[in-house]
Parts: sequence; C-alpha cells; structure tokens
Amino acid sequence: MKEIMLHLARCNGCLSCAVACAIEHSESKTLLGAVLENSKPRLSVEPFLDRAAPVMCRHCTEPACVDACMAGAMQRDEATGLVTNEGPGQQCVGCWMCVMACPYGAIIQETVPEKKALKCDRCPGREIPACVQACPNAALVFEEPGRFAAEIRRGSLVGLTASGPTEQGRG
Ligand code: SF4
Repeated sequence: MKEIMLHLARCNGCLSCAVACAIEHSESKTLLGAVLENSKPRLSVEPFLDRAAPVMCRHCTEPACVDACMAGAMQRDEATGLVTNEGPGQQCVGCWMCVMACPYGAIIQETVPEKKALKCDRCPGREIPACVQACPNAALVFEEPGRFAAEIRRGSLVGLTASGPTEQGRG
C-alpha cells in the first residue's frame, strides 16, 4: 500500500504542501476561497535541525488515536488502512483525546466553526495527495515504503562508491 514518504534532505520548508492541503480541504478548492473559509492544513511544517519537515498522520496500523477516542469517531478502515474521524456515522466531539494520544502530534485542533479534530485523510478521490503533488522539491513522494527504502539504499551505495572504501572497510 502506498504511503506519503519524505526525503528529509530535500525539504526547504516552503509550505507549498500545507497550502495545497488547505486548498484541497476547502469548499471552493481555490487559494482565495481557502483563505476566506479559514480552511486549515492537516499537516504542519516544523523546523528540524537546520531544515524543516512536514508532519502528518502516518495512518498507524495500531492507532493510539482510535484507542483514545471515547466517542468512537476515530476509526481505521481495514480495507484502505486509512484512519479518519470523518466517515459516515463518525461524529467527532472535539474532546482532543486523539490529539493527546498521537505520538507524532499529527492531529490538529479546529475550534471554528466547530470543535473538531482535523487530520490527514490522504485526499479521497485523488490519485496523488495534494501535498505530494504540490511539493516543488519532490521531498514528498507517494509510494510503497519498500520501494522508497530501496531508493534510499541505492542512493547510499552511490555515496559509498563516490567516497571510496574506508580504512575500516579495507580490513
Ligand atoms: S512542499 Fe516540499 S519542500 Fe516545501 S515544505 Fe512541503 S515538503 Fe518541504
């Protein structure tokens, strides 16, 4: 199953992903409309060392937010693997238990027009999530984690080859 993956070194904190997320989750699907609607992004771009990184829901296999939600609003769809509080019959009451339980701080509090926990829903109806499509640096990619890891491995081997064997490596 494809996941939103991050090439950390490529992110320059431009916020394009956050803007695209807010637009995608607005009624109008336009930048001006999103501003007027006060549409919030469902991810946040955080400073990290001398860089930045977007933080969003990982759609955990055993989600702490689902266990914490006393209203039963936060649920994991076993077929898609998506964790949301917005499906049919899922009524979020804004108690913030999921916010407290999420180990990644990936759940956002909306208070206006109503108290509601906001989180990544992977943009239903889109082949590629809006944040991924908007990233100008290809820092965000939507692919199988195994494939992503293979790409990282290949990149690290290229780095090793370029720098040559270490003293330790020569035995
Ligand atoms: S759009 Fe890409 S480069 Fe810009 S903040 Fe988001 S992940 Fe980083």
